[in-house]
Amino acid sequence: MLTLYAVVPCYNEQDMLPLSAPILRDKWLTLMDRGAISRDSRITLVDDGSADGTWQIIRELCDAPDSLFSAVKLSHNRGHQNALLAGLESVMDRCDAAVSLDADLQDDIDVIDRFIEEYENGCDIVYGVRDDRSSDSFAKRVTAQGYYKFLKLLGVDIIYNHADYRLMSRRALHALSGYRETNLFLRGIIPELGFPSAIVTYARREREAGESKYTLPKMLKLAFDGITSFSVRPIRILALVGVLTLLVAVVMAVYTLVRHFTGNTVSGWSSLMISIWFLGGLNLLALGVVGEYIGKIYSEVKQRPRYIVEETVGLDQ
Ligand code: UDP
Ligand code: MG
Repeated sequence: MLTLYAVVPCYNEQDMLPLSAPILRDKWLTLMDRGAISRDSRITLVDDGSADGTWQIIRELCDAPDSLFSAVKLSHNRGHQNALLAGLESVMDRCDAAVSLDADLQDDIDVIDRFIEEYENGCDIVYGVRDDRSSDSFAKRVTAQGYYKFLKLLGVDIIYNHADYRLMSRRALHALSGYRETNLFLRGIIPELGFPSAIVTYARREREAGESKYTLPKMLKLAFDGITSFSVRPIRILALVGVLTLLVAVVMAVYTLVRHFTGNTVSGWSSLMISIWFLGGLNLLALGVVGEYIGKIYSEVKQRPRYIVEETVGLDQ
């Protein structure tokens, strides 16, 4: 039977955890009673270097009789993506699959039943996708959706409207741990893993206690990581603009020379015009070429896995 772990990153969640932990525990007990998951299934809380009483609360949850909780404490605040990865890597050898979800339970936990169904149908990755953003402010809705579209435009393979609410099988988790990069953008990496996957839609609720821990700087960092960790297209665009500028330079050169020979120019104007356009274009193009190499270096130093084996036949020991 499926041993399912929940992995919940918690940063300064002392107001939320006492509410959400029992709900999550009840959910796990229900799933166990129904025979959907094994009795070894657990809920792993990751304290992302909280500065409030979060760790105290987590310890109490873990020490309670018949506790379903286990925990990981990070020594300092490393951000949601890193905390999540720490939790997933800590449990990947203990479970058949893990569900990642936020401590505020904004993501409907009853969707987990459908995650499990998809897992049983053979999916390694099940994405939770929100089909309703009414719980977001107008500004957040517009920027978030614009961002997803922008990433797509830059060629980053992401699942539209999917945050980090998902189920991953053990082998998908192992594949994920092969990515050694520091600037994590899980939403970009996970579709890259391949494996059979499915999408389950749900509506997101509002946070019931505490405030959003995704401050604007944290959100901006994540947004930049999403672009710069997955796309060299900004560099290509630079090179392209360089080429376009050189084309304009040719047109400008012809125009300038015509003006020059028809005689209605100030002295020095022609040479200046031609140099500015040619040198500007050349500069941009050169930057693009250098950037192309930096992009290569960047992708080499990340040391991403070159391939991921899904199955082998006749090669087991
Ligand atoms: N979180 C974290 N480290 C951080 C910021 C957030 O572990 O530095 C956790 C947080 O405790 C929550 C999840 O990430 O479980 C999502 O954060 P939040 O609900 O505040 O973000 P929002 O839903 O507003 O995007
Ligand atoms: Mg939230």
